[in-house]
Amino acid sequence: MKFDIMTLFPEMVSTVLSESIIGRAQEAGFISVECHNIRDFADNKHRKVDDTPYGGGVGMVMACQPIYDCYRSVRDAIPEGNSVRTVYMSPKGRVFNHDIAAELAQYDNIIILSGHYEGVDQRVLDLIVDEDISIGDYVLTGGELPACILVDAISRLKDGVLASSECYEGESIASGILEYPQYTKPRSFLGLEVPEVLLSGDHGKIDRYRLEEAVRITRERRPELLSLHPEIEESLKPKKKRGKRGSDADV
Ligand code: SAM
Repeated sequence: MKFDIMTLFPEMVSTVLSESIIGRAQEAGFISVECHNIRDFADNKHRKVDDTPYGGGVGMVMACQPIYDCYRSVRDAIPEGNSVRTVYMSPKGRVFNHDIAAELAQYDNIIILSGHYEGVDQRVLDLIVDEDISIGDYVLTGGELPACILVDAISRLKDGVLASSECYEGESIASGILEYPQYTKPRSFLGLEVPEVLLSGDHGKIDRYRLEEAVRITRERRPELLSLHPEIEESLKPKKKRGKRGSDADV
């Protein structure tokens, strides 16, 4: 899978994405990320990429021409037959979540446009963008950090990037609810102990404890997730066993 990121600040993106797991995933060839400097495509002497808004108002608007030419150069390099999605990072977009990450992970190529300043001339968005995506209900100074978030969240769903799909399937949100608390060595830290059950070696008990904790935390912080997945809480209830005379008994 390849990500092409169109931005005025390519180093903001490449610096973040060259580190850690996503950096290693690129080195190993599981994903590829290329940043394209929109300014390189400006066809004027001063490489100007923005201008004042028609109709008045504060700030500058990114102009059509450099973005359109940058997009054409990215698009023309993508092999025929590849599935391609072009996304504009925008607070006006569909709010990003795990399901959208999983949906986008199905494409061969994702082209991401990061805006800056007051935004982008609507005409070029209408020409090139399939969908606006927001990373939350707040406004940032630019689309570079949102682009990094998109690439990170999608990449970790691709084969090879994490050790196995189990790494994300049991995690918060992907599992349907929030994850249980994690602990590591030492057993005691500033008088705080690791829960005894995690040291028991009894994997049945550990699984049950973790599920109970996950449900407890989800009920406290995101109760709506439990309503969406009633079967998870249901699985903690004692199972009914049919008695000899057909009556139910708790086990
Ligand atoms: N004037 C725009 C508006 O009110 O919708 C906001 C422009 S913002 C200052 C500059 C750029 O940051 C946007 O073009 C977009 O690419 C990016 N951006 C800001 N907040 C974002 C968010 N929540 N999600 C995704 N991108 C965002």
